[in-house]
Parts: sequence; C-alpha cells; structure tokens
Amino acid sequence: MNLFDLSGKVAVVTGGNGGIGLAMAQGMAEAGAAIMVAGRDRKKSAAAVDALKSLGAEADQSELDVTDEKACKALMQTAAKRFGRLDILVNNAGMSIRKRPEQYVLSEWMTIMQTNLTSAFMCCQAAYPHMRTAGGGKIINIGSMYSLFGAPLGTPYAASKGGIVQLTRSLAAAWAKENIQVNAVLPGWIDTALTRQARIDMPDLDDRVHARTPMGRWGEPGDHKGVAVFLASAASNFVSGASIPVDGGYSISG
Ligand code: NDP
Repeated sequence: MNLFDLSGKVAVVTGGNGGIGLAMAQGMAEAGAAIMVAGRDRKKSAAAVDALKSLGAEADQSELDVTDEKACKALMQTAAKRFGRLDILVNNAGMSIRKRPEQYVLSEWMTIMQTNLTSAFMCCQAAYPHMRTAGGGKIINIGSMYSLFGAPLGTPYAASKGGIVQLTRSLAAAWAKENIQVNAVLPGWIDTALTRQARIDMPDLDDRVHARTPMGRWGEPGDHKGVAVFLASAASNFVSGASIPVDGGYSISG
C-alpha cells in the first residue's frame, strides 16, 4: 500500500486558484486526487483547473465567496455530485488588512474574521455529512505564523489565525470517532500575492524574513505540496488536531 496515494479521493480547496491553495491542490492532484477549485475570481480558477488537468488530474471550478454560508453548503454538494464523493477539504481562502489596531473599523474586523475563520467553520460543517457518507475525511485548515505570534499590524488577522488552531483542535476532538482527521498548516513567510503587498506595507520585511528564517529564504507555494499530501492521505491517519509549521524554521528561531 502506498500511504501517500490519493487515487479515487476528492478534494475541495477554497482559494485553490492561486498561491498556497493552488500548490496544495497540485500536490494532491499529483498524488491522484480529483480537485474542486473554489474561489471568487473565475478567470484565476479556470487557469488553475487547466494547470491541474495538465497534471492528468480530474478538476473543476466552483464560484465561491467563503463568507456566504449558503454558498459553502452548495459548494460541498456540487463537489460531491460532480466527483461522486468528498474526502478532503482544504480551508485556505484568506486575506488581511494591515493597519494599527486603533485604526480598524468594525466592518474590517468582521470581514477578516469571516473570511479567515468563520468560513473555515462553515465549510467544515458543510463538508461533514459528505465525509461521514465517505466513511471518514481529512480537513486541512490554513493558519499562519500569526497563529503563534502577535501581529502589530494585523490584530484581526492574528485573532482569526489563532482561532484556526483552536477550531482545528475542537473539530479533531469532536469528529475523531467518525474517522475525520482535522489538522492545520502554519505557513511561514511565503512569496505570494498576499505577501507581495506586505512587502510594500512593511519595507524592512524582506530583511527581517531573511535574518530570522534559519533556512535563509522565503518559502514558495510549492513548499506546501508535501504537507498537503501527508495530511490528506492515509500517511496521517493517527495525526489529528496538530498544527504543523511550514516555515523554514522561522517559528523556532529566536
Ligand atoms: P493569495 O492571496 O494568493 O490567496 C488567497 C486566496 O484566498 C485566493 O485564491 C482568493 O481567491 C481566496 N479568497 C480570499 N477571499 C476569499 C473569499 N471571500 N471567498 C473565496 N475565496 C477567497 O495568498 P496566499 O496563497 O498567500 O494565502 C493563502 C492562505 O495562506 C491564506 O489563508 C493566508 O492567510 C495563508 N497564509 C499565507 C502566508 C504567506 O506568507 N503567503 C503566511 C501564512 C498564512 P479569489 O482571488 O478568487 O478571491
């Protein structure tokens, strides 16, 4: 038995049309999974589906705003109908607004919490019945280094990503008996659209990342392929409630 084989498995990836989400989708596709890419930007999603199909995988796209509860439910139904089952959910969609805590208005706080944390809960709830039907499932939630550290320019982002860790633990405890493993990945500083803006907002960021990361570089989205396959596959069947940094050592560096 190949512990990392995902043949016959079906994965939904929110925000799977770019950055870390697309790389995780590619990793799982290379391991044999069919992928439903879910995001707001149809053009980006279409390009992602083409990229996944070029790997020989089955793939499709579904338009989704993760802040819409009905849309999250409909997405899981669409994926299960389209591919016959649902085994894997990656809650990857996320965003930030950078400013000092005293400058946020409540609507900005709510948007960040809904996009990064509430959405993950809603998608997990929506996926749950389908995973039960499949005899089990794998949920991968995307946290951050700010699941661990404070963010002077990202209070709601850090609160949402800290919440991801506790959401992960709580669901892992609740659904263990139903053979659903729930884990989180905590990316370090990864070169994506999200952090390209951060580099503009924080001019010293590039130097700080190089200085503090023991591996001496930014991460690439592709650095998440392996952890996605591990957490989506039988290789992780006794791993649940864990939060795994993928950070070149950033979180263990003083
Ligand atoms: P990107 O900006 O490339 O990806 C974010 C994705 O989220 C996009 O595909 C976007 O899709 C989707 N998204 C955002 N809002 C919504 C929404 N309301 N509904 C549906 N989809 C949405 O950045 P990353 O790849 O870097 O980010 C992916 C995840 O990784 C995020 O959760 C982020 O917080 C996390 N992360 C990233 C780090 C980094 O250094 N890059 C570090 C730590 C965590 P669309 O364009 O279609 O809306």
